[in-house]
Parts: sequence; C-alpha cells; structure tokens
Amino acid sequence: MIYLDNNATTRVADEVMAAMQPYATTYYGNPHSAHSLGRAAHKGLENARSQVAALLGCAADRVRFTSCGTESNAIVLRGAMSQSERRKVIATAVEHPSILNMLRRMQSRGEIELVVIGVDRDGAIDLESLAAAADERTRMICVMLAQNETGVLHPVRQVAGIARRVGAEILVDAVQAAGKVPLDVDELDADYLTISGHKLHAPKGIGAIYVREGRELDPLWLGGGQEFGLRSGTEPVSLAVGLGTAAALAAEHLPVMEDVRKLRDTLEDSITSQVLSARVTAQATPRLPNTSSISFPGVPASLIVASLDTMHEVCASAGAACDSGPARPSATLTAMGIDRELAIGAVRFSLSRYTTADEIASTAAAVVTQLAQTHADSGGVA
Ligand code: PLP
Repeated sequence: MIYLDNNATTRVADEVMAAMQPYATTYYGNPHSAHSLGRAAHKGLENARSQVAALLGCAADRVRFTSCGTESNAIVLRGAMSQSERRKVIATAVEHPSILNMLRRMQSRGEIELVVIGVDRDGAIDLESLAAAADERTRMICVMLAQNETGVLHPVRQVAGIARRVGAEILVDAVQAAGKVPLDVDELDADYLTISGHKLHAPKGIGAIYVREGRELDPLWLGGGQEFGLRSGTEPVSLAVGLGTAAALAAEHLPVMEDVRKLRDTLEDSITSQVLSARVTAQATPRLPNTSSISFPGVPASLIVASLDTMHEVCASAGAACDSGPARPSATLTAMGIDRELAIGAVRFSLSRYTTADEIASTAAAVVTQLAQTHADSGGVA
C-alpha cells in the first residue's frame, strides 16, 4: 500500500509505540497517586508535556492534554465565550468543521455573533475585511496555521496583530501544521494553539492545547481538576507519552520535510506534465511541504480515489465531500471560488516523512494510467 493520506491521519511511529508500552503495562499507576507506580506515571506525563512544549516553543505548564484536535478547539471556543461580555467571533471561511460547525451552532443558539471572512483563489485570507470586522466587541479570531485540504499557510502573526489592536484573542488551529513546519507560539503571537496527535505519528485519542499565560478558559466540565483545572479526568498517560515522543521525533525530523517538499513537487510536476488538464490548487502560495491538491476537470475525485485504491494500492483522498447524493464540491475549494468542475475533481495527496521516491513515481504513473483509462472509457481525450 502507498499511503498518501497523511493529512487524514498518520501511521504511529515505531518509536512512539515503544515509548508508550511501559506506561500501559508497567507504569500504569494513576499519575496523581502518591505511590511509586503513580509517581512513575506522573514523571512520564510531565516529561511528555515538556516534549510537546518544546515543539510549540512554550513552557511546559502552558500545555493541556485533550483527546484530539476537535476537542481542543471546542474547549477553547466554549471556554472563552463563557468568560466574556464580548460576543463576536471572527473565523476564516476555510477553517476546519471543528471550528466552523461549532461556531455556527453557537450562533444559531444566539450565543455569539459570527463573522466569516473569505479567501481568494489562492487561499489567501482577505485581511482587509478581517481588520474591518474586528472591533471592541470581538472576543476571538480563529485562524488555522495550515489548511487541511490545500496546505495553504496563513499569516497568523498579522491576524494576531489585528486581534491585539481591538483587545481580542486568537485561536490558532495548528493541527495540520504541527510536525510539518516549525512552530513557535510567541512568533505566531497565539493566545491558544491546538494540535492533534494522530496527525503527527502519535495515536488517535490524544491532542493538546497551548494556553498563553494570563488567558482564562472556563472548563467544559468539572471533576478532579486535572490538566490545570481545564480538563478533569484521569490523564491517558501512555497516549500522552505517545504524543510527547511524536513531538520530539517531529522536531528532530523537521529538516526532512524539505525532502518531502521535493517529493511533493516531483509528484505535481510529473502529473501535470502528463495530464495536461490537471491543475494544482494554490501552487504558488506558501503551502505545507507535504500537501498537494490536484484537480482533474471532468472526472469526479471519488472515482479517481477509488480506482487508485483498488487498482493501484494508493491511498489518497477526495477533496470533495461525497455522501449518498451526487458529488458536492468541498466547502474549502468553494470558498476559494474554484469552479465546481475543478472542485469536484480535486484529489488530495498528503505525504509524510516515510514517503519514498519510488512511491511517488508509482503514484504518478498510476494517476496517469487511471486518467487515460477514464478518458478512454468516456470516449474523451486526456
Ligand atoms: N483542525 C484541522 C485543521 C484538521 O485538519 C483536523 C482533522 O482533520 C482537526 C482540526 C480535527 O482533529 P481531530 O481529528 O484530532 O479531532
């Protein structure tokens, strides 16, 4: 199998599995128990916190463990809104559903006033509109560092500057960026930053939030007061150790992402030079090194993805959300103003540090073969 769907989830690194194992079967104490097994678990948990903090460029006591990116985003959004008189939240139109759907629900219940800011064809945020929308009623501005479908990187620091001017806070969803580009919460000027383990070779079921010193979030539920009172519940120590180890490995392997970028570029060049109708989304915009969204006009992405899987053992994903009805273009590509035909034919390839040159060559060949086949079947020309 050639796995090019790493923005959906990643393979757990062997080193991560090995580091977690003792915390499941040997040091399985509750990290808040006073006995030796509890103390060993506590040490593992706090070491993991320091490893995550090192990846984010913050002090260990600013990191809170959660279960995933979605929960991290929800804790910040709900926790911040119950703390303030300010009711306005600004988000970009290409945020992940864990932000946009949550905010829309809060808006429909009259809890917030939501302003959604558009992006252009290259995925760039309309900063002028964002600055115009931000005012003294604004509580939070949500901007993801890297877009999950296109890989487009956003000017978070500039957005933070807008937030600062009106006394608002900024939530940076760094779920896709973590482990792929350098992160520094001070350079970004983030108030809150969220990550998810399963996107960076840790297991599913663990995530984290960075909370800037002095920022207050109301916990969503109460209990034993774990995670600095923000997320009560006994910490999943082995999962946290997994995230910590994955964070350390990601930091160590960041230079390798430049090799990944070259592989990604080779994939794009090789496909677009042979399938002349293929279009790379936001190719000239600063992007994650591992992500490529390539549109094949006139061919539904779901069809390409299914054939790549069953005939060529390549896992990629459709940029279009397909349910039981006809294919619908993705909200992200639609927000970018990309034509329906291009958006429906968008396939996302997302690489990892484990991707090899051979895999990229085989994938490009498979795509070209598949497209030629599809066009032959429909009587068209490639
Ligand atoms: N934010 C972004 C940008 C994502 O891509 C994802 C997952 O795809 C999430 C949040 C949600 O993360 P999780 O799957 O850990 O809940």
